[in-house]
Amino acid sequence: MGSADIAVAGVPFDSGVSYRPGARFGPAHVRESSRLLRPYNPAQDIAPFAVQQVADAGDIVANPFDLDEAMDQVYQGAKELLTRARRLAVIGGDHTIAYPLLRAAAEKHGPVAVLHADAHLDTWDTYFGAPLTHGTPFRRASEDGFIDLSASAHLGIRGPLYGKSDLDDDARLGFQITTTEFIEEHGVAAAIQRLKQRLAGKPVYISIDIDVLDPAHAPGTGTPEAGGLTSRELLRIIRALSDQNIVGVDVVEVAPAYDHAQLTGIAAAHVLYELISAMGAGAVSD
Ligand code: MN
Ligand code: MN
Repeated sequence: MGSADIAVAGVPFDSGVSYRPGARFGPAHVRESSRLLRPYNPAQDIAPFAVQQVADAGDIVANPFDLDEAMDQVYQGAKELLTRARRLAVIGGDHTIAYPLLRAAAEKHGPVAVLHADAHLDTWDTYFGAPLTHGTPFRRASEDGFIDLSASAHLGIRGPLYGKSDLDDDARLGFQITTTEFIEEHGVAAAIQRLKQRLAGKPVYISIDIDVLDPAHAPGTGTPEAGGLTSRELLRIIRALSDQNIVGVDVVEVAPAYDHAQLTGIAAAHVLYELISAMGAGAVSD
């Protein structure tokens, strides 16, 4: 690969999951599910692969038996790709990989404003004493200074927690939360306005856990929660962010063994297509 505007890379890794495994097969499934995507995106009036060079850089190897080594491999892999591509669009893999990806992004841009779309907070401290899992990447990345906590947000949070203290801990870190109930009550336009105010003027990293979508739209994932966003709502929100300085994206937690008729794979492929289109529209700032 020579130089590219965006490198698409898979991370076939799921040793950080707490419930249903299988996201290591996500990259292959999302690529297969992307075969019907067409070159022109009318919703953003852009031909995302014509206005920028987008290259599939293949997969980053991550040791399934050693989580620390795996995280280092993802960090090194991302860092290496960023010497040849301006931005990365990564297909997971479980959400643990956001930690090394944020490390690589912050090294290049300074602390990034994170838009984290997920049913779950992913700011828990430890699971069974383990500091790095798919439920903790944004806690660790916050502690290590990779995230601009004055400008970061969770989107689509819902479902049962371990306790109210989960929300208190998260609030202490400084994330803004836009819940599914907020969207139900005030609508997608209000959610967009809230997110844009939060992210404005910062280098933005968008991390999308496919379980932000309702299981009706994305059943093929490890920890599904009822009452989520529709794919239409999520695509609209991404389109609205095309005027932001998006410096990197990931779409994670697609687990094809639980998918039906490629619903989840197609949703993830379209989400990635919309993100790549948004990066093409915003283009040029780094
Ligand atoms: Mn999740
Ligand atoms: Mn997650």
